[in-house]
Amino acid sequence: MTAMARCRTAALGGHAHECSACGLVLPAYNSCRNRHCPKCQGSAQYRWIESTKERLLNTSYLSVVFTLPAELRPIAARNRRVVYTLLMRSAASVWVLRHSLARATRCRTTAE
Ligand SMILES: [Zn+2]
Repeated sequence: MTAMARCRTAALGGHAHECSACGLVLPAYNSCRNRHCPKCQGSAQYRWIESTKERLLNTSYLSVVFTLPAELRPIAARNRRVVYTLLMRSAASVWVLRHSLARATRCRTTAE
């Protein structure tokens, strides 16, 4: 907490930035580099977001969360590709089934 309270203040030292165009000199104080410091991690978070955005495809995304029983977690950890493929295929099958049932129910309802 002390380091964060002193972050980017004269207490941690610093140096002077001089503008090459106008000659204005401003103090630039050192950061604490504490991983919990919002001043220090704000720029790291921004850099992470920018680098992650570069890797994303130009499409919409959907977040999918699976909760596995505890007994299956060690198996999933050792066989990620197989387990994740099975989970995605199972989820897709369920989604198609539910979508088909919903459509069939709507058709039956409107036909009656
Ligand atoms: Zn800091």
